[in-house]
Order: sequence, then structure tokens, then C-alpha cells
Amino acid sequence: MRRVLPRTHGFQRPFGLWPEGFGEGGALPEDSEGFGEGGALPEDSEGFGEGGALPVGLVMDPIKISKLTFAYGEGELRRPVLRDVALQVHAGEVVLLTGPSGSGKTTLLTLIGALRAMQEGSCRVLGRELMGASEHERVRLRRSIGFIFQNHNLLGFLTARQNVAMALEVEAALPERDRLARAGAMLAAVGLDGHEDKLPAKLSGGQRQRVAIARALVGEPGLVLADEPTAALDKVSGGEVAHLLRDMAKSRGTPILMVTHDPRILDIADRVVAMEDGRIVEAAAA
Ligand code: ADP
Ligand code: MG
Repeated sequence: MRRVLPRTHGFQRPFGLWPEGFGEGGALPEDSEGFGEGGALPEDSEGFGEGGALPVGLVMDPIKISKLTFAYGEGELRRPVLRDVALQVHAGEVVLLTGPSGSGKTTLLTLIGALRAMQEGSCRVLGRELMGASEHERVRLRRSIGFIFQNHNLLGFLTARQNVAMALEVEAALPERDRLARAGAMLAAVGLDGHEDKLPAKLSGGQRQRVAIARALVGEPGLVLADEPTAALDKVSGGEVAHLLRDMAKSRGTPILMVTHDPRILDIADRVVAMEDGRIVEAAAA
């Protein structure tokens, strides 16, 4: 059943608000890097447009994971990718997650982001236990999280301002005009004053990631999850984007968990956690 989407600009909601069932069980698209590439909602998608974001409140540890184990595949094909993971992110903390390709970083991030169902262990995010959580609970939790990806995942046919305003569409009480105004203010805050009405193709890679930061933060999330947000950028703009994200999150007290390969941005972290072969192998103060 296709639900009537809440006031849109005539497109289907990509992510930011995740299509119901995304990341569930089955394989990711072949070429997926990071969390996958938006795309249309499945026909039977539902669960968005109801309720707003969860009240975030004061949560001591926005992420608290213990004994988390996760495997892809069934039966003989079952292959564990996360083993006995424990991880805590404290209020307002910026934590970087590093490790070789294939070590399980994105999988862990999708579990924390409630994009995938837990299998074993405990994962508390913004005070909610995700082990055994229903689809509906996971959808609600996602609304309290700002996501940023390697590829900006902006919609090419929407302006910067419209892309950012989309993240506010869950706030049904907020008129379109106010959403656009808040989006404009957030774009100014990321240094894109004067670029609000440009399409993504007219912006540089670094500017597009600034739009993605604005989109992730405009809804005042309780947590930001970022998967290699600087990987597609050159050294200078990668560094600028990472520092901007850190400064904006710090000024709001928003914790960040960021996956990165990029040794040039380790200095933004309060703490660096390393993964190897599905395990946390090292956690040190940066
Ligand atoms: P990283 O982000 O650290 O590169 P991933 O979490 O993407 O690691 O992948 C961890 C392991 O799980 C890899 O071996 C990868 O091939 C495998 N994997 C990732 N996604 C899927 C999937 N949807 N189905 C099956 N295996 C997967
Ligand atoms: Mg990855």
C-alpha cells in the first residue's frame, strides 16, 4: 500500500528519513558504499509521516553497546561480521571509528542508526534499546539521528535549501515557509550564504558536503552518524568539512560517531576507536 506522502515537492522521500525496511536482511545494492544510495521507496513502504522525532532529553551516553554480534547470511552462508563489540559514546563526544575496509564499520553504524535489526547483544541509542525494537520504534529513532554519507546524497533536482528543508518534513506542524527559513539559516551557518538556491551540480564537492551537514543538523538530532564523509574530497576541503562538522556539533552538544579512513582528520576527535575483523581492537584518547 502506498501511503500519501506528507507535503513534498513532488518527489519521494529519499533518506534522512529512511525507507522502511532499508538495510533489512538482504544484500545491499551491489555498488553500495556507505549506507546505500537513497533511491525510491519500496512500494509498501510505510511508517514515516507519523509522529515526530523522539524527544531526546538528557541522555548520559547517547550510544552504549555491549556484546553486540552480527552476521550476514543464513545457515551455511552465515558469516559473522561483528563480534562481541562494546562501545560507548558519551554526551557531546566526537568519536572516530577507523579500521580496514571490510572490518565492519558501516555495518556497526547501520545498526546504531536503527537501519538494520539487531541480532544479538545490546545497543542503546539515545536511551532506547534496539535489541528487539519494532520497526516502528526504529523508524522513530532514526528521526532523532542526523546521517551524513561519503557521497552527499543530495537530490539533484532540488536546491540546497530544499534539500535541507526536506529533513524537517517530519515536523508536520512546521509550515513549509518556516522549514525553508530554518534551512536557509542552517546553510548560512555552514558558510553557504548566497548559495541557497543552487542545485547540487552547481556546488563544489566540499560545498555539497556542507549542505549534507546542514541537512543532518537542521532537525536538531540527538546524535550524528557519519560514514566516511570526507572520502570523496581533496585534502583541504576534507579537512574543512570535518572541522566544520566537529565545531557545529560541539557548539550544539551533539555527539558524533564518524567512520573514517582519513588520517588527516583524526585531530577532530575526542577519541579514536579502531576496528579489525569485526572487533574493536583499540580505543585511545586522540
Ligand atoms: P567496512 O565499512 O568496515 O568496510 P562493512 O560493514 O561494509 O565494512 O562490511 C563488513 C563485512 O560484511 C565485509 O566483509 C562485507 O563484505 C560484508 N557485508 C557488508 N554488507 C553486506 C551485506 N549486505 N550482505 C552480506 N555481506 C555484507
Ligand atoms: Mg564502510
